[in-house]
Amino acid sequence: MKNNFSFLTFLLLFLTPTLFSQQQFSCGMSSTDCKEVMAEMLKNREEMRDQNFDRGAITYVPLRFFLVADLDGSGRGTERSCLTALCNLNNNYAEQEIQFYIKEFKYIDNGSIYDSPMGFSGSNAIANAMIYDAINIFVVQDAGGGAAAYFQPPYGPNGNDWVVCAKQYMTDTRVLTHELGHFFSLAHTFNGWEEEQWDIAKHGNPVTQFWAPDGSTRVELVDGSNCSNSGDGFCDTPADYLFPSGNCSYTDQVRDKNSELLEPQVDNYMNYHFGCSEYFYTDDQKAAVKNSLNSFNRNYVRPGFTPVTTEITDKPTLISPENDEQLDYHENVYLTWEPVEGAQYYIVDLLSGTTKIKRIVDTNFILFEDELQPDKSYLWKVMPFNESYGCAQFSSTIKFRTGEGFNSIQEITEVSEFSILPNPVQAGSNINISISADENFDATIFLVSMTGQIVNSIQNYQFQKGNASLELSTSNIPSGVYFVNIQSEKGVLNKKIIVSK
Ligand SMILES: [Zn+2]
Repeated sequence: MKNNFSFLTFLLLFLTPTLFSQQQFSCGMSSTDCKEVMAEMLKNREEMRDQNFDRGAITYVPLRFFLVADLDGSGRGTERSCLTALCNLNNNYAEQEIQFYIKEFKYIDNGSIYDSPMGFSGSNAIANAMIYDAINIFVVQDAGGGAAAYFQPPYGPNGNDWVVCAKQYMTDTRVLTHELGHFFSLAHTFNGWEEEQWDIAKHGNPVTQFWAPDGSTRVELVDGSNCSNSGDGFCDTPADYLFPSGNCSYTDQVRDKNSELLEPQVDNYMNYHFGCSEYFYTDDQKAAVKNSLNSFNRNYVRPGFTPVTTEITDKPTLISPENDEQLDYHENVYLTWEPVEGAQYYIVDLLSGTTKIKRIVDTNFILFEDELQPDKSYLWKVMPFNESYGCAQFSSTIKFRTGEGFNSIQEITEVSEFSILPNPVQAGSNINISISADENFDATIFLVSMTGQIVNSIQNYQFQKGNASLELSTSNIPSGVYFVNIQSEKGVLNKKIIVSK
C-alpha cells in the first residue's frame, strides 16, 4: 500500500508538477483576501437577516471569458474549455437556482496577464480590461503562486473583482465552482489556515491555539460551540485546519483543544481536495450565496436577462464534404452540417497534420475561401452550443482531401467583377447586384437560403457587355444568411449575403 502511494506521488510529481504544489495552495487567495470574503459574508448575513427570497425563480448570471494569449498570440485557452466550465457550473449551481450564461468571449494578447496575473502589470492590465456587466473570468497560462485559480476581491459594484483560472483547470469539475463560491462570499472551510496548513511540528496535536495562523480568525472547535464566528462562519461545515489532498482523503487524526477528533468535509467545494467523485455546498453556504447574489455589490450580475437555455441533445450530422471525399479544389470550400435543435452557435474544428483551424459560426455552414492548402487531408468536426448550454458533444470526426484546383465553383469567365450591395441588407430592401462582363450572356439569378431553398429569383436575365446592375427584392424574407447565386451556361457565381432585421 505504501509502495503504491509512493508510486502515485512520483507520478504526480513527474507528470504534473503544478498539481503537487497546488496541494499546498490550491487557489491563490491570500489570507488578506480571504478576510474580505469572510467580511462580505458576515455583512450580507447581517443586512439580509430578515430577507426571504423567492423559491423556484432562477437567476441568470452572465459570464465573460477572457481567453488570454501570450504577447505573440500563442497559448490561448479554448472556447471549448469555457463551455465545459459553463456545463459544470450550471450543474453545480442548479440546486441554488443560479444558472450562468456566456455573455461573450474576449481575446487578449498580453504576456503579463498570461503568466503573471497577480503581478503589478498583470493585475493592472486585468483591471483595465474589466467590464462590469458580468463575472469576468480570465483564462491564463499560469495563475501564479502554484495556484489553479483565484478570486480577486474587493467586492463592490465597481470594486475591481475578478476570477483568474489557469487554462488547464478550466475543465475541472470543481475549480471554477470554488472560485465563484468566493465571488459569492464563501470562505474556505479552513478559513484562517490558507498560508499555513496544519503541521504537527508547528501546531501540535491536539491543536490548542486560539487564533488561526492568519492571526485574526478564531480556530473552530469540533463541538460547534464557536462555529458562527470562527473558521468560515458556517455551523454546518465542521472544523478544518487545512489538510489538502489530491485524492479526496483525510487521514490525519488531528484533535482540537477539547481533544475531539476533527472530521473535515473533504468533498465540500470550498475545501482543497482534488479527486472526489462529487462535491457539495452545505445549506448555510447556499444561503450565503443567495444573500450575496441579491446584495447591492452583486447588482451588476443580475441584469434580468433570460438567455436561451435549450438543452442540446443531438450531435450534429456532417453533410458535406462527405467522409473520405476527394475535392478537386482547395478554395471556396463549403463545409455544411444539419442544424441542431437549440444551437445558436457551432464550433468548427479542422485538423491537418499539426495545423489546427477553429472557427465559431452562427450558421450551419462555413466557407473557407483560401485558408485550406491544396492536396491535404483534413479531419473536421462540429460542436453546437448556446449561451447557457455548454454540455453538447462534438459530431463524429470525418475526413476529406483537398485538390489542386482553385475553386469549387466554375466561374463565369466573362465576368471580371461581381459585387452585391449593401451587405448586410435590411429585410425588405433591394439587393443591388453589379456585374462587369467582357461579353453578353444570359443567366438566372437566385436568392437561396442556407438550407438550399430558393426564396427569390430573376429568370433569364440578359447581361450586356460592360457594366450591368440589377435589383433583387428581399420582401417577405426572414432575416438570416443567404446566397446570391448566378447561373449561366458558362458557369456559376456565388456570394453570401446577410439579410438583417
Ligand atoms: Zn479558494
